[in-house]
Amino acid sequence: MRTIRTVSELREALAPARRAGRTIGLVPTMGALHEGHLSLIRRARSECDEVVVSLFVNPAQFNEGADLDAYPRDEARDAELAEAAGADHLFAPGVEEVYPRGFATTVSVASLTGPLEGAHRGKGHFDGVTTVVSKLFNMVGPDVAYFGQKDGQQAAVIERLVQDLDFAIRIEVCPTVRESDGLALSSRNVRLSPVERRRATALYRALRAVSEAIARGERSPAAVTAAGRADLTSTGGIELEYLELVDPRTFVPIQHVEPGDLLAVVAARVGGTRLIDNQPIQVPSTAAGMEGPTEASSPTEAGSTHTQEALECSAR
Ligand code: AMP
Repeated sequence: MRTIRTVSELREALAPARRAGRTIGLVPTMGALHEGHLSLIRRARSECDEVVVSLFVNPAQFNEGADLDAYPRDEARDAELAEAAGADHLFAPGVEEVYPRGFATTVSVASLTGPLEGAHRGKGHFDGVTTVVSKLFNMVGPDVAYFGQKDGQQAAVIERLVQDLDFAIRIEVCPTVRESDGLALSSRNVRLSPVERRRATALYRALRAVSEAIARGERSPAAVTAAGRADLTSTGGIELEYLELVDPRTFVPIQHVEPGDLLAVVAARVGGTRLIDNQPIQVPSTAAGMEGPTEASSPTEAGSTHTQEALECSAR
């Protein structure tokens, strides 16, 4: 695997594959790679002829300077992990390569970016994401790009972007990888103290409490989210930002639990670390619905250190 710093080197490295009609897969990351990222890279390896992993801590999407400064970075370790997972190229440009002097363009997706993460991190966050992802798409020219369900709203925003701007790229959204106690893997987890790490499992428990309330037949979103909130607020040291049941197409809170796809979403600060998570829930329409919604299996059931909620990524 080669580490590439510039767009011109990248184009040169990918030209033979492109000429030969080989498929190119892209996995965009901000580094500090963990099993969540590696699941995306392995997926790309299994589906594409050439796999590019990008590593760029994008200043434009950080709404807090302290979060950007504290973001974990270890390129040598990331390179080893990416290669072992099957990457052919690690594209790790400097900030000046991505945002050269005079850079003046923003790519902005409306509507979907308003609620939840958009409201809490500010509009600039998603603008930073969509601008850098558009640039990465143009730099790499992938056939397929892989994103994680862990950042569910981001994945939906990217799908909108691709559709609206006619990028000829298939987007694959891959399931969230969790620790055995349910905590979703995140580069920010390394910042948690041992006590905070234990508290952080409350996010997953809250999502489970929400699905369980729906399984019991609760149909009022307020009552359903109250069930999840009880767990979060009874765990000390957690500052809840939101816990909502939303429509996964719009990310707008739903008024009533009806048959179909829902998404339970949560964001909270554990000490100084902001964490997000979500749980897709399918409410069946038939009599089978009386048995409750279907959702991913509990992480502890899989019996491995890390669990993925489903085996397949979903092309949407
Ligand atoms: P990041 O480096 O945090 O920007 O994440 C890069 C990609 O990895 C994004 O598409 C994330 O959604 C995805 N990702 C991060 N954590 C996980 C996880 N626990 N499971 C699956 N995908 C993840």
